[in-house]
Amino acid sequence: MLSRIADGTMNALATTLAKAGNCAHPVRLAGRSDTVDAHSGEILKTFRSVDQPMGLLYKPCGNRREQVCPACSRIYARDTFELISTGLHGGKGVPAAVNSNPLLFVTLTAPSFGRVHGVRDGRAWCHPGARGERCSHGRRTACWARHAAEDSVIGAPLCPECYDTMSATVWQWHAPELWRRFTIALRRHLATLIGVQDRELAHHGRLEYAKVAEFQARGLVHFHALVRIDGPDGPGSPAPVSAATLEAAVRAAASAVALTAPPVDGGDVERALRFGTQTDVRIVRDGRTDCEITAEQVAAYLAKYATKSSGVDPRNPVPHLVRLVDSCRALAARALADCPFGCGKRAFERRPRLCGRCARNPYALLGRWSAMLGFRGHFSTKSRHYSVTLGALRRARYRFQRLGIERHRLASALEPRELEARLMTDDEESTLVVAAWAYMGSGWPRSGDKVLADAAASRAREFARWRAEQRRRTSTTSGGKTSGGT
Ligand SMILES: [Zn+2]
Ligand SMILES: [Zn+2]
Ligand SMILES: [Zn+2]
Ligand SMILES: [Zn+2]
Repeated sequence: MLSRIADGTMNALATTLAKAGNCAHPVRLAGRSDTVDAHSGEILKTFRSVDQPMGLLYKPCGNRREQVCPACSRIYARDTFELISTGLHGGKGVPAAVNSNPLLFVTLTAPSFGRVHGVRDGRAWCHPGARGERCSHGRRTACWARHAAEDSVIGAPLCPECYDTMSATVWQWHAPELWRRFTIALRRHLATLIGVQDRELAHHGRLEYAKVAEFQARGLVHFHALVRIDGPDGPGSPAPVSAATLEAAVRAAASAVALTAPPVDGGDVERALRFGTQTDVRIVRDGRTDCEITAEQVAAYLAKYATKSSGVDPRNPVPHLVRLVDSCRALAARALADCPFGCGKRAFERRPRLCGRCARNPYALLGRWSAMLGFRGHFSTKSRHYSVTLGALRRARYRFQRLGIERHRLASALEPRELEARLMTDDEESTLVVAAWAYMGSGWPRSGDKVLADAAASRAREFARWRAEQRRRTSTTSGGKTSGGT
C-alpha cells in the first residue's frame, strides 16, 4: 500500500480492485470493444483498456475454488445456490409449481478401501477393537481416540500399507462413469416401478437432478444430489410417483450400479467398482409438506461443497493425499510402460500426443489428473431441465450491467417486474459487441496488490454476512417471533 501511495497509484488500484470484484488472480487484457447497434451499425459505446485507471482491463479469474480465489469462488457459490434453489422454488423462468414435486437429497459414497481415522457420531471411538492386535506390518488395527474434526489424522489410513490405495485410485478415476450409470439405472428402476418400458418413461415423468462432488478427508469424492421427479410436461407438472417411490428407485439403483474396471497392466486384476453401502437418501419434499431437512439447508450445503478445494495443498501436504497423487502417477506410468514410442513420458503434458494404442488405454491420462487425486469429473452438474444454468446467470449479470449503462443513455427507468424476464431471456440482442483483446498476463502487477485484493474480498464477505444477519433479524422481528439469545 505504501509503494502505491508513494507513486500516486493507490486510487487507480482501488478503482481497479473494485471493478475486478477483488479477484485474487485477474487476467490482464489489452484492447478495445465497441458496442454496435445491430440494425444501424452505429457505434453506441467504446471501451478501451488504455482509458482504464491502470492502463489494462483486469478481468476476474472466475475460479471456483475458495483456496485459489476467495472473491470469484463466492460468486460461483452464490450462482450455484441460485441454480439449486430455483430448482426448489422456481423463479428466473422456472415455474413456481416445481415446489410441489417430490424431491430427495441423495448422497452416494465411495466404498471402503481399508480402515481410516475418522470423526464418529456422538464422539464415539475411531476404530474400537482388540487392544493388542496388529496387522502384518506391525501397526495397530484399532484406534481408541475420539478425533476432533480438525485433527490432521482424519482420513489417513490406520495402516498405509494395508489400505488399498491402488483400488481407491482406480475407483476415483471411474467415479464419473459410475455416476452416469447410476442416472441410467435410476430411470430404469423408476420405469419398472411405474410399470412402463424404459423408453416410455418420458411420457409419464421426467427425472431432474443437480449434483456436486465433494472430496472427503480420505481424498475420495462423494456425490450429493438433489433428485426431483416432474410430470411429463416438465418442471411443475404433477409427478407420477410419490417421494417414497422415488426413494425406493434411488436405493435400488444405487445398490445395483456396477462397473468393471479393466486391469492397469498385465500384472493387475479386474475390479468390480460400486458405490459404498452407506447411500443416504432424505426426503426434502414429498409434495405436501417439508420434511427432515429444509430446501434452504440443502441449497446452502451444495453451494458450499461446490467451492471446496480438492487435492493436495502444497503448503500443507497431508501424507495420505500425497500417496493418492503418487498412486495416480504410478498407475499411469505402469499403464503406458511397454509402449515402444515412449508415450509414458509425454502423458503428463498439457496436450499429450500419444500413439494409437496408448490413446485407447483407459488409464493413459490418469497421471495428468493426479493433482485432482484422479477425479476428472465436473464438480457440479445438473440435468437439462433442473433449473437455470450458470451460463444463463452469468449472461443475466452481464446484461444487468449493460442495462445500467443503457439506462443512463436512454434516461429510462427499469421496471422491476419486467427486469427478471428481460435479464433471463435468450432472445437475440439488438446490439452487438465487437471486441479485440490480447492477453497480457495473469495476476496483479505487485505482490502487495494481491494482499489488498484478498483483504478487500474478506471485508466484502464480512459485510455480506452482517447484512444477511440484519435482514434475518428484521424478518424475525416482523414475523412476531423472538430471536434466540444472541
Ligand atoms: Zn478471481
Ligand atoms: Zn483414529
Ligand atoms: Zn498393515
Ligand atoms: Zn504409446
